Amino acid sequence: MSNNDHRNSESADMPSTHISEDDPTRSPILRLHEITKMYGEEMAVKDLSLSVYKGEVLTLLGPSGCGKTTTLRLLAGLDRPTSGTIDLGETCIASDETFVSAEKRDIGLVFQDFALFPHLTIAENIAFGLSNLVTDEKERRVNELLDLIDLPGFRDRMPDQLSGGQQQRVALARALAPKPSILLLDEPFSNLDVRLRIEMREEIRRILKTAGVTAISVTHDQEEALSIGDRVAVMNDGHVEQVDRPEVVFQHPQSRFIAEFLGQANFLSGRIYDTHIETGIGVLETNCIDGYRNEEIDILVRPDDLRAVPTTQDDSNGYVIHRQYSGSSFIYRIRLTNGNVVHCLHNHTERHEINTPVRVDLIANHTLTAFPQLEKTA
Ligand code: ADP
Ligand code: MG
Repeated sequence: MSNNDHRNSESADMPSTHISEDDPTRSPILRLHEITKMYGEEMAVKDLSLSVYKGEVLTLLGPSGCGKTTTLRLLAGLDRPTSGTIDLGETCIASDETFVSAEKRDIGLVFQDFALFPHLTIAENIAFGLSNLVTDEKERRVNELLDLIDLPGFRDRMPDQLSGGQQQRVALARALAPKPSILLLDEPFSNLDVRLRIEMREEIRRILKTAGVTAISVTHDQEEALSIGDRVAVMNDGHVEQVDRPEVVFQHPQSRFIAEFLGQANFLSGRIYDTHIETGIGVLETNCIDGYRNEEIDILVRPDDLRAVPTTQDDSNGYVIHRQYSGSSFIYRIRLTNGNVVHCLHNHTERHEINTPVRVDLIANHTLTAFPQLEKTA
């Protein structure tokens, strides 16, 4: 996998929304403030705060059971928070005193089980939420959406004549039809097979960006989150641990949990001296790291940050202990002389055998994130 696989796909006709978390010039369209949701004794969401800006696609990423669906249900008005407030634009939609019901929220939903109405045509499915429009306007809007989802000839088909991916696009069009101010998507691809899911990432981002809708898309799949979102909010155990652009959460995670959840993470143990750090791959400059500084650190490295070159035993700093082939690339697992284990991503043409002595070097062109070293357990 190349580094680029973690980036959003962007093309000329697709506006990209780059928003820094504390941009004072923009006010959020949606603001969750210290939201908690209890189900009996179970705290599904804990003190969660999050702002969403107009026109952005925010992905909510986290392991199963961390509270993603609960958060969306609270936003949609399907559940009421135990405490905290939710503001949509200038209006408070949930607080101790206020609760605006789901129908009055102007929020669109595409949930996991996105079933279309089987007895209605594709056009009728899309028009379902448009009862307030006169026939001409309804026709125009349906045609616009059929073009948007690239199914212009499908208006009179029945849902069971469509593939899974096509049905999913129709579900998206149905939710977009009434022009909701926010669209919520809960694991929208989980019913599709892997290959289709990957195709749909690109397609769904194109549709959302072209529609210009503000969207929150929930997933437990890190590649999906990184490739769809303008920003990614990483959730753990009921709260948001970090919100930022995909490349920032990937390269500069604020916690070991995020580092490990977002992809292959290895740690180089290092000891800081004034201007340099001693590590298992040699001496690094202190300005190559950011984040935590202490005498003893662990530096996050991902497979594309390192390169392993075969060399003589004397010149080596480690050796190959495992090789994983994925068609286009090899991932080498290397045991460094100091005991650290790291992974290195190489092109499929660079084939090294197990036990080959190698010299591992840092090739990252960005600063690396350092964490305090974990207490050693005997
Ligand atoms: P996710 O979507 O991230 O997988 P959920 O929001 O569905 O997580 O669930 C978060 C936690 O809240 C889980 O521990 C789940 O068991 C619990 N939970 C969710 N809904 C309910 C409910 N209706 N009653 C009791 N517990 C619930
Ligand atoms: Mg869920």
